[in-house]
Amino acid sequence: MLLTISTTYQPATELGYLLHKNPARVQSFDLNFGQAHVFYPEATEQRCTAALLLDIDAVNLVRNKGNAMAMDQYVNDRPYVASSFLSVALADVFGTALNGRCKQRPELVVTPLPLQAQLAVVPCRDGEEWLRRLFEPLGYTVEVVQHPLDELHPEWGDSPYFTVTLSATCRLSELLTHLYVLIPVLDNAKHYWIGDDEVNKLLQRGQGWLEKHPERRRIAYNYLRHKHDLTQEALERLVIEAAQSDEEASEIEAVSEETSEAEAIETQSVPATEVLEEQAGSETGQEKSTKKRVNLHEQRLLAAFEVVKQSGARRVLDLGCGEGRLLKKLLQEKSFEHILGLDVSYQALELAQKRLHLARMSPRQRERITLAHGALTYRDKRLEGYDAAAVVEVIEHLDPSRLSAFERVLFEFAHPATVVITTPNAEYNVKYETLESGKFRHQDHRFEWTREQFQDWSRQIAERFGYQVQFSPVGPEDAEVGAPSQMGVFSRHESVA
Ligand code: SAH
Repeated sequence: MLLTISTTYQPATELGYLLHKNPARVQSFDLNFGQAHVFYPEATEQRCTAALLLDIDAVNLVRNKGNAMAMDQYVNDRPYVASSFLSVALADVFGTALNGRCKQRPELVVTPLPLQAQLAVVPCRDGEEWLRRLFEPLGYTVEVVQHPLDELHPEWGDSPYFTVTLSATCRLSELLTHLYVLIPVLDNAKHYWIGDDEVNKLLQRGQGWLEKHPERRRIAYNYLRHKHDLTQEALERLVIEAAQSDEEASEIEAVSEETSEAEAIETQSVPATEVLEEQAGSETGQEKSTKKRVNLHEQRLLAAFEVVKQSGARRVLDLGCGEGRLLKKLLQEKSFEHILGLDVSYQALELAQKRLHLARMSPRQRERITLAHGALTYRDKRLEGYDAAAVVEVIEHLDPSRLSAFERVLFEFAHPATVVITTPNAEYNVKYETLESGKFRHQDHRFEWTREQFQDWSRQIAERFGYQVQFSPVGPEDAEVGAPSQMGVFSRHESVA
């Protein structure tokens, strides 16, 4: 299996820096399925080509699996075609370039370069059309040569194997990322175990392009080896991600400025699960529903934002801040002097850091925000001395046995004057046609409460810790089952001296 990457950027040999591989040397790497070799068939000022040659040990692969040894396990296309082995090799051998890093040429990392990638053999049973539908929306010029089954017997027709050349002016990391995700999608026979981590990998690598790709659904489905539940999860999370692309976010902000808060909250919410169904049913529905979906989560955030703002808080906590969507809004509001976002997921915080462009912030802005890694179920001194806390769609992720710890951490120790908590309203789940009864909306939810359950819990807390609490629906209200989300706003009783 051979992949070549060429550039005509001048001096073209800069490609060697970007790939962290010296054009003058042949280098070999041991991988657990064989060997990868990197060399440069050409390296001049005008044009430079790096080649990645994979030498897959098919026999060893079968043996390692401990399987019965059928003939087709030895005699198959794996050693010769671009498959997920190539993705693994790309991450191993060109990992730094894939992640968009280069100490020696940082400016080139972010520069779109004239690039060309050629994959010697790509298996694509769905034909040339599918190849084009995958790469053309990403801005590539796609050249395709389909190979006959047997050159000596043209009457046998074509094979499902293609030589593919992709050309574009883009960042090297983008090209590598697209290959990393889309090669296994084309091959459609991923070799390794698919678990939660694969969803994260897909979302991480898909950031910035997958959510806009017209074939995102099928890409996720193939990448996740046709696992419906994982595909669903990935798409749901992608949607949330998509809402965060700066362009859309500012679009929403513009819309929400025009609409009154109450209107925004009550009229536009569409349950994510319903949208997913719509998405599954029709392709054009996807585009149509993007805006509505954006509004769904957006409304919870706006509702929480508004509560915090109205409270007059100057120092604000966003607990379980996730990827920083609320933090971004909070930062834009000048009345907040300091904002702390805390999350148990380091990965989420890294995304938040990117979303907020922390690295490029002016020192004054930078001082206004702290990202903290920590769990809400342990007392944390960093959370003390704040006026308000937002806890948006987080409590349902906590283990019920740890809830009481969370209650004390927030209401007793951090003890802000205002707390806003949102959580799904389980009664509304019957409205989601694709959700089996008794199931939760999200894989990671540990519970989902009815309105009564949430209100009972909240009132007990309010009483215990000296707060009063008020409830509002979030999203369109149904006469029987209420709104999809519910919000409790806790206000601390001011102690009378
Ligand atoms: N508030 C964000 C994210 C909601 S998703 C938003 O509305 O966009 C739930 C978040 O809670 C995840 O980022 C998860 O990592 C975080 N979380 C779950 N358990 C946690 C815990 N024990 N401590 C802190 N954060 C936690």
